[in-house]
Amino acid sequence: MADQANHSVSTESSLLPTYARAPVAFERGEGAWLIATDGARYLDFGAGIAVCSLGHSHPHMINALTEQAQKLWHVSNLFQIPQAERLAKRLVESTFADFVFFTNSGAEALEGAIKTARKYQAASGRPEKFRLVTFEGAFHGRTLATIAAGGNPKYIEGFGPKVEGFDQAPWGDLEAVRSLIGPATAGILVEPIQGEGGVRVPPPGFLRALRNLCDEHALMLVFDEVQSGVGRTGKFFAYEIYGVTPDIMAIAKGIGGGFPLGAFLTTREAGKGMVVGSHGTTFGGNPLATACGNAVLDVVLSEGFIGEVSRKGLLLRQRLARLQDAHPKVIAEIRGEGLFIGLRLHTSNSEFTVLARDHHMLVIPALDNVVRLLPALTVTDQEIDEAVIRLDCACVEAERRLETAENASS
Ligand SMILES: *Cc1c(COP(=O)(O)O)cnc(C)c1O
Repeated sequence: MADQANHSVSTESSLLPTYARAPVAFERGEGAWLIATDGARYLDFGAGIAVCSLGHSHPHMINALTEQAQKLWHVSNLFQIPQAERLAKRLVESTFADFVFFTNSGAEALEGAIKTARKYQAASGRPEKFRLVTFEGAFHGRTLATIAAGGNPKYIEGFGPKVEGFDQAPWGDLEAVRSLIGPATAGILVEPIQGEGGVRVPPPGFLRALRNLCDEHALMLVFDEVQSGVGRTGKFFAYEIYGVTPDIMAIAKGIGGGFPLGAFLTTREAGKGMVVGSHGTTFGGNPLATACGNAVLDVVLSEGFIGEVSRKGLLLRQRLARLQDAHPKVIAEIRGEGLFIGLRLHTSNSEFTVLARDHHMLVIPALDNVVRLLPALTVTDQEIDEAVIRLDCACVEAERRLETAENASS
């Protein structure tokens, strides 16, 4: 008993301190809103980092989850899983792909995608080809291979030798990509729109040029649509915007709507080396996770839904353009597609994130001094208006601080 009492008064977190967590906890969610433990309502334009695609507590998601939970959670991939079969079929029918492998996270999806690209070359009689060209500002996850692929020194240092096989080009630099392609190159790995890198869209023609390079050199084009996929950009997948299809693609985040679920997708040809026994996962694609994935697709693939994302994205862009006109000293640039929006700031993005939170408005910082706006795809026009009002308050405060700092230094 005494021991228990001690535990309850302990103020030090038992979570490994790898995150600088904001001092707020939420106990409920309703669509684009989060309700904190003190009852305060926050407008959530982070959606759990582009995960809660249908917002919080969507009735169709709750039904799908609870119905499946009452029947069967997990059986392993040693058996047929009808929910996974159905979800894979739907993904194949709506994309470039012929096959799907389900995972539990984005990083696990990327690991599988990287392995598939390498294995394709080996199965084609070119086992010496295992290297992938990647890009500065990329983010592909936190496993040993995906930190090497992402190339951010902060994530790599101190974790032993960097995994071999990744060569980085500056974002959008086609000449650099060309110069990095050598006899050991297996493919190119790229986010069609960089997320963590600051919602950086590709220069015109860039993805097409990467596709051509891959075709010329028998390389695998691997897209990471973990953040940009599943309707976020106003297309089912961002590659549709650019009219360029990959050979292999990793997805996660939005496909589970909040339940941990990822996948990699491949054409028949690109996946030809991934035969029985070559790859596996215990949890990936279990009945509970894939029931949630199917529920997300029921809504996202319903008539007109993705078109609405596109329309609401334009509405948000319009409102933000006005905001930028009103606050040119704060907002430097608006970028992105659909409801995958980045505001590059003149003032500190981390400070802005806190100022927005003070106005009960949640946004997510990214590299390149950007804050990301990634609301639920179900966000309403009224909520978009409300978000811009709250962002305006944060901009006013950022300006006030800028003036105070300018006065102090003059
Ligand atoms: C989040 C993310 C990942 C990693 O996903 P996890 O589920 O955190 O492992 C990989 N690639 C991109 C583009 C991402 O945004």
